[in-house]
Amino acid sequence: MNRYISWGLTRANEITVLDFYWQEELIRQFSEKKSLLVSGNHRSYGDSCFTSIGSNISSLRYNRYITLDKITGLLECCAGVLLSELNELTIPLGWFIPVTPGTKAVTIGGMIANDVHGKNHHVAGTFGNHVNEIKLYRSDMGLVACSAVQNQDIFAATIGGLGLTGAILECKLQLKSIPSASLFVENHTFLSFAEFEKLSIESDNAWEYTVAWLDGCSVKGDKVNGIFSRGNHLKDKVAHLHKKPRKSLRIPFLAPNVLLNNLLIKYFNQFYFRRMRNKPEGIQGFDEYFYPLDGLDNWNRLYGKRGFFQYQCVVPLQGGLDVIREILSIAKSRRQPPFLSVLKRFGQIPSPGLMSFPQPGYTLAVDFPNRGKSTRAMLDEFDALVLKHHGRLYPAKDARMNAATFAAMYPAMMKFKNYLDPICQSDFWRRVTAQ
Ligand SMILES: Cc1cc2nc3c(=O)[nH]c(=O)nc-3n(C[C@H](O)[C@H](O)[C@H](O)COP(=O)(O)OP(=O)(O)OC[C@H]3O[C@@H](n4cnc5c(N)ncnc54)[C@H](O)[C@@H]3O)c2cc1C
Repeated sequence: MNRYISWGLTRANEITVLDFYWQEELIRQFSEKKSLLVSGNHRSYGDSCFTSIGSNISSLRYNRYITLDKITGLLECCAGVLLSELNELTIPLGWFIPVTPGTKAVTIGGMIANDVHGKNHHVAGTFGNHVNEIKLYRSDMGLVACSAVQNQDIFAATIGGLGLTGAILECKLQLKSIPSASLFVENHTFLSFAEFEKLSIESDNAWEYTVAWLDGCSVKGDKVNGIFSRGNHLKDKVAHLHKKPRKSLRIPFLAPNVLLNNLLIKYFNQFYFRRMRNKPEGIQGFDEYFYPLDGLDNWNRLYGKRGFFQYQCVVPLQGGLDVIREILSIAKSRRQPPFLSVLKRFGQIPSPGLMSFPQPGYTLAVDFPNRGKSTRAMLDEFDALVLKHHGRLYPAKDARMNAATFAAMYPAMMKFKNYLDPICQSDFWRRVTAQ
């Protein structure tokens, strides 16, 4: 047994993670075990990627590439392929993953099972929108090929299905052609939520990637300091820079709990705001632009032994910014400011997954150091607010929402239950279904 700690460091378990190289090995596990969960690289923040009852099976070694059509960009690969490796192979050929999360330390299987979103949600939708076919293994049905035209229901349940519909073995997905691996990026300072909204709306058509960083400590009424960043791939092939990714620095041990205190959080946010104000535009490599946090390995350890909660919600466009302002104001009044706050306006493209998180509206992702009961109580308060305004939380980031909240935020779970693999289970699922 190994001690396994979730990415947010708030959940620890004694578990053994098994792996498999060959399909037959996975099939054998499925026939021998009474309960299991297939996972990827454990970059989900809470307990959706492990089970403390039954076996944990990582797909990391099931990581072969099958085909890439260099003319059309159609890729077929195994679920354990890491995005970091895929990028290294396809970007020099002018093909890029159509939707990328903020870290490349994730597997393709994990990206499907959480139906991840990126800075281009307003033009590209979620990752699932680009998956053409999935080969799944289920304990009750064996191998199942599913797509938008074959076993459609299982396909929809598996995209964003949190590993509960069986093991994703392989998939076919459509990469996107990019003229350059580098991006032209503009950073715009804003001083209110209204300015953020204006920048978001006016950038939707001409900019492929948009996202905003906020100084969570600066909220006062409608006022908030932030940097709205928008980027496009460079059109010029001559500028096709494929810089080797920077070597990551590593946080070698857990920081003392006092490190991220309120004063440091306040000064860090003020410093970052001032720094970015002076960088209005520039050319960035894809690593620097898409994966800034990957430059610091195990950055989660900065939060110390008690860890942190990333709270990510989406709230409808109508009134959504008021909810976000209220969340940040409550955090400020409780003297629990977030260390990092990111805000994005999702687009209208429907997610193909039955249980996918994204919906049209504003999504806020905020990291709070875990200060025990007081932090949990504050986050419960946010849940009530988000629920009242027809929003929902992102399971990939969650470590604490209760069963009633989940059921109200994800009414599709009643239908989803029909597609559960009888032996797949996670601690997340047990928690949100009160088992
Ligand atoms: C720094 C950072 C930034 C992030 N930014 C974003 C972001 O911008 N957008 C976003 O959407 N997410 C983001 N995330 C979350 C992350 O993208 C997801 O949690 C992703 O699913 C993790 O992939 P993984 O391979 O680590 O999967 P894991 O965390 O190991 O597993 C995730 C889920 O997928 C299931 N699963 C994994 N592999 C399989 C398989 N082969 N078959 C069946 N089920 C499987 C697991 O059971 C689990 O339910 C971020 C995470 C970090 C740490």
